[in-house]
Amino acid sequence: MERPEGRQRSVPGIQLDTPVKFLKGVGERRADALARLGITTAGDLLYHIPHRYIDASSVTPVARARVGEDVACVGAVVTKAVTPTRRGLRIFSAVIRDASGVLECVWPGQPFLDRTIQPGQTLLVAGPIRFYHGRQMAPREYVVLAEADAESPLDAGRVLPVYPATEGLSHRVIRGLVDRHLDSLLAQVADTLPDEIRRAANVLPLADALHMVHRPASSGEAERGRQRLAFDELLDLQLTLGRARGIARRERVGGLRFELRKTFTSALRASLPFELTGDQRAAIGEIVADMASPHRMHRLLMGDVGTGKTVVALFAMLLALENDCQAALMAPTELLAEQHHATLTQLLEPVGLAPELLLGRLNAPAKGAARARLAAGSARLVVGTHALFQDDVSFQRLGLVVIDEQHRFGVEQRAALIAKGSAPDVLLLSATPIPRSLALTRFGDLDVSVLRERPPGRGRIRTGVRAPGQRRQVFEFVARACRDGGQAYVVLPVIEESEKADLRAATTMAERLRELWPDLEIGLVHGRLKPDERDGVMRRFRAGEVQVLVATTVIEVGIDVANATIMVIEHPERFGLAQLHQLRGRVGRGSAESYCILLTAGESADRLRAFAATEDGFRIAEMDLAERGLGDLIGTRQSGGFDVRFSRLPEDEGLLAIARIRSEAILESDPALIRSDNRALKARILARFPRAVEFFRTG
Ligand code: ADP
Ligand code: MG
Repeated sequence: MERPEGRQRSVPGIQLDTPVKFLKGVGERRADALARLGITTAGDLLYHIPHRYIDASSVTPVARARVGEDVACVGAVVTKAVTPTRRGLRIFSAVIRDASGVLECVWPGQPFLDRTIQPGQTLLVAGPIRFYHGRQMAPREYVVLAEADAESPLDAGRVLPVYPATEGLSHRVIRGLVDRHLDSLLAQVADTLPDEIRRAANVLPLADALHMVHRPASSGEAERGRQRLAFDELLDLQLTLGRARGIARRERVGGLRFELRKTFTSALRASLPFELTGDQRAAIGEIVADMASPHRMHRLLMGDVGTGKTVVALFAMLLALENDCQAALMAPTELLAEQHHATLTQLLEPVGLAPELLLGRLNAPAKGAARARLAAGSARLVVGTHALFQDDVSFQRLGLVVIDEQHRFGVEQRAALIAKGSAPDVLLLSATPIPRSLALTRFGDLDVSVLRERPPGRGRIRTGVRAPGQRRQVFEFVARACRDGGQAYVVLPVIEESEKADLRAATTMAERLRELWPDLEIGLVHGRLKPDERDGVMRRFRAGEVQVLVATTVIEVGIDVANATIMVIEHPERFGLAQLHQLRGRVGRGSAESYCILLTAGESADRLRAFAATEDGFRIAEMDLAERGLGDLIGTRQSGGFDVRFSRLPEDEGLLAIARIRSEAILESDPALIRSDNRALKARILARFPRAVEFFRTG
């Protein structure tokens, strides 16, 4: 009533920072719901972009939806029902029809859908097709595209944007709001990206991009629009992280300056029982250059298991020793530390050095003696666990800290060890390869070296996907190999929600195998065991006293048994690809051929087959990235990371490369973005990544 007629469109004077509740069509309640989606201003609404598009080309005719596939279909609801099952569950079902035929859709446990889904509506459903008294879809997602009396937008030949929605605010209401205000909002858009960079990146002007994202004429247009938003986001991220790296480097001046004296390092090179790989030589070169510079080294050495990170780290440690400094190598478990200690003892024997070992479980006199040698400097190189950064440990002159499986330690733990020296160099090791560009994004202030090549002479790992029907064969294969003196892992997943049941599954598996194979020794390890119990079982496995190790993912790290050549993984579909790869790395440690067998009932078989086809950790990291999305890997808003909304990797690798080059050039001439021509860019960054303010505070 109060509203004057004739102003159906936006109120004049709407700015991008106007609170969204002042937009026509948004009342208090809708404003509250929008706030739940992070939309508080008119501009937020403009940047609330669709998470999918539907057009005739992206949906499968229902008759062509095959069992085992995951598809999206659109049809009119012809009938619906709520039926109880014998186990007290109520199932909502609806049959949809398109020009090709009909399809039954079922939602177990969701009888309340009876209130929203009505005959005559046009429904989009997306999900897996399974067989249950005929073909059925169990939709993961559904969208009411049109009410019973309305024309389906797809019939009108449109590309339909679908927006992320929330309780009390359907995607259709959001679509209506965006559509209603789009033109007046676009008129307010100012493009902050210098034209020259925009053309170099081959992306659209901002207003055009936003227009295409919300009202695309084709899905190709929608993608072009998204790319522009993604480029801005990547550029802002690179500028922020580049700035963070710059600050970190500046703070790292005054580090130790090592000289390549070629005493220990040359002796090691001469006595190594193998040739270094090209990647190892390159990484050593990068490390030596860092250590010889007045800057403090802060470098991540990334490489799959078995690529030979230890020997690279050893060269770095010997360089520190040549310069009368001490070096410490810290590992996350006692077992791993012992393994490193044994390896280094062997490699350093010809060099005339003996590494020290410091573990929590050593008895008090042994620990005391080791600590005394470290404090006096007679122990030059030490391998240890968390015991290394305890208060009672001090070094005479700690010049280099190496941290294996660096992600297993907290920031404070790493810092505690580093604080034992006076500005020591730091080398972090990681067996979780990620694409280099992402590494630079995620570990903003680190330099990165990569080992991709594997040393020769390793047996290959054959990976196979097997169905439950082949389970007997698989386990017979395992038993045969173990009776012939081999060893095997059987891995079961533990996911948090059902941890108890999962642990029971591992326990049951161990019991069953004990019954089945009384002649073999079966071990069981899982995360609920006390560390010393777990280490005990693993030690017996390493010693060959246990032939089959049933395990949850705790074996990911800390065990290297060359004789174990078989790994069976149950429910591999419940693991991420990167995690599967980590697990698989436990076999193939010796020269014999190894086997990794994925036992699955056919779920997500395609991704598992793609996984089986490659052993390249970086390739798998890319697949994993594509699966999980960039946001998940960089960290979310909640964790204080940088919220990435528009970009996707690996698709946007090209844009990322351009963003990196451009950001470096910008930061080179104006590191804090204080020049007037960069002011708008900086404002945009701070609006997008509030956390970036800590890096741009000073000049
Ligand atoms: P990572 O820690 O990267 O998983 P390691 O450092 O434990 O790998 O090395 C795995 C094995 O490969 C070790 O037995 C090591 O001695 C051996 N190795 C390392 N570099 C080479 C090389 N260039 N040629 C042959 N064997 C190598
Ligand atoms: Mg290692």
